[in-house]
Amino acid sequence: MSDTILVTGGAGFIGGCFVRKTIAEKKARVVNLDKLTYAGNLDSLLEVRDRPEHVFVQGDIADSSLTVELLNEHRPWAIVNFAAESHVDRSIDGPREFLQANVVGAFELLTSARAYWEKLEGAEEKERFRFLHVSTDEVFGSLGSEGKFRETSRYDPHSPYSASKAAADHFVNAFHSTYGLPTLITNCSNNYGPFQFPEKLIPLMILNALEGKGLPVYGDGQNVRDWLYVEDHCAAIWRVLEAGRIGESYCIGGESERANIDVVRTICDAVDEARPNLSHAPCRSLIRFVKDRPGHDRRYAIDATKIKTELGWTPSVDFESGLRRATRWYLDNLEWVERVRSGGYRGERLGLSVSTISGQGGAN
Ligand code: NAD
Repeated sequence: MSDTILVTGGAGFIGGCFVRKTIAEKKARVVNLDKLTYAGNLDSLLEVRDRPEHVFVQGDIADSSLTVELLNEHRPWAIVNFAAESHVDRSIDGPREFLQANVVGAFELLTSARAYWEKLEGAEEKERFRFLHVSTDEVFGSLGSEGKFRETSRYDPHSPYSASKAAADHFVNAFHSTYGLPTLITNCSNNYGPFQFPEKLIPLMILNALEGKGLPVYGDGQNVRDWLYVEDHCAAIWRVLEAGRIGESYCIGGESERANIDVVRTICDAVDEARPNLSHAPCRSLIRFVKDRPGHDRRYAIDATKIKTELGWTPSVDFESGLRRATRWYLDNLEWVERVRSGGYRGERLGLSVSTISGQGGAN
């Protein structure tokens, strides 16, 4: 078996970070399968574009003939599934796409993985293989003011997004219990950091604050999320891949519970600090409370004891310094932002078409 892994959704926010990190740290060769929906952005993969250890293939995880072909051609020892529709607001407006990508897509990928794994020859190859499914803490629903989610928490999804992620988790577990497929699941809290699509809370607020636009905060702003710097999440996924117990799930969190309004205020202060001469300063004056999102979960928090004690992972970036780092990144990379906003990232990039970014034999 090769040192290759198949990463799906590797042109997205977290998958892109995982791919860049994997190549930079020489952990594996990566076949990166991504459908390039609106959230897939090859601009985020510039630093690995010309690396021979990175093979980009544009395609859908639900396309089983493609995934079977890729698995047989590249013989990966692991599949890491990031591919998903990921934005809760979009799932409220159009839930069907979430069912298709997150449930049917995951199911088809599991089916291809099973067929590949069952045909692997030699006990060593079979034993080494892993299917790691990247999931979310949102599958557990909402907490009151007390308690934290852990691996044994009851599934109680509230949005079409979290319902689709929960369904996929159940299929992953079913493929392990029924067919013995060596699976792993990670349930992580909210991520933030560079290259996040600017519809999500943190980049949206940074950019609106910079531009003097209103900063819309849902409801009373007291919804609490646990935040994790994206590179810490990717390090945790690697720990689980290398040392996690088969059939288990691992909760991953940043020990950084913050009310949304406090996150927005911290962003305002970071933008004021980085750009002291803005005419609309202080940016806190731009905060506006808007009608709450339907079914808006009140609080998420993660108890990450299992991954800490079993696998020795802990987050390395605290929230305030991570947020300052992220803020600086967006302010320093306005060209990246502009290409997302203008839609330019979906077409030609720097004179290279999408297909030329594929290292070899891709199904562009
Ligand atoms: P993202 O929306 O930025 O990226 C998703 C990527 O998947 C995109 O590149 C998209 O083109 C691709 N994709 C979508 N459907 C596909 C399909 N059918 N076939 C192939 N590729 C497809 O999402 P993200 O924020 O990077 O999240 C990645 C994963 O992590 C998701 O599964 C999400 O549920 C999970 N997660 C995200 C967070 C977070 O805070 N962002 C937290 C916990 C878990």
